Amino acid sequence: MTFELPKLPYATNALEPVVDTETMELHHGKHHAAYVTNLNKALESHPTFSALKIEELLSKLGEVPEAVRGAVRNNGGGHANHSMFWEIMTPNKSTKPSSEVAAAIDASFGSMDEFKAKFNDAGLKQFGSGWVFVTKNSKSGNLEISSRPNQDTPLMEGVSPIMGNDVWEHAYYVKHRNRRADYLAAWWEVVNWDAVSARFALN
Ligand code: MN
Repeated sequence: MTFELPKLPYATNALEPVVDTETMELHHGKHHAAYVTNLNKALESHPTFSALKIEELLSKLGEVPEAVRGAVRNNGGGHANHSMFWEIMTPNKSTKPSSEVAAAIDASFGSMDEFKAKFNDAGLKQFGSGWVFVTKNSKSGNLEISSRPNQDTPLMEGVSPIMGNDVWEHAYYVKHRNRRADYLAAWWEVVNWDAVSARFALN
């Protein structure tokens, strides 16, 4: 089995003006495609690992042969992160958090505004390339915000993120130039709360 680039669930211009068409074409068609190609290449002679689901592969990084572990970490992480990313965005402006997600946000952060502010702050403070993620604490049930460098993901600790935003420059530089804070603030307009709520329900 080889890993495959998922189709975008909307047209490349669908998230304008928050995510511009050129960024979407490059981000999905070139960056994500390259992660998939390089992941498959790294695992070419390791069929035991290429047969795994991406989530399982990343949770077993320590078992991946050392010679290709770095490539699997970066490109496998990139594949998983971007596959989630396309899913949790939508041009449909009417999606809403489920009552369970809304309650978890209130319980964990006090309010939706406070949640967004903390998420944006974590994204802004991630130095260089990386991601900001939301995960559900399996013990307390609370939501937690964390950032990771490069293409690292909570999946590497066996935890599936509920949502996340890409703060690599390739995600925003064409449209928002150096203004990561503007991108982070605008991004909430395209969040697919139906998809986020579905991910929450599975965790
Ligand atoms: Mn990216």
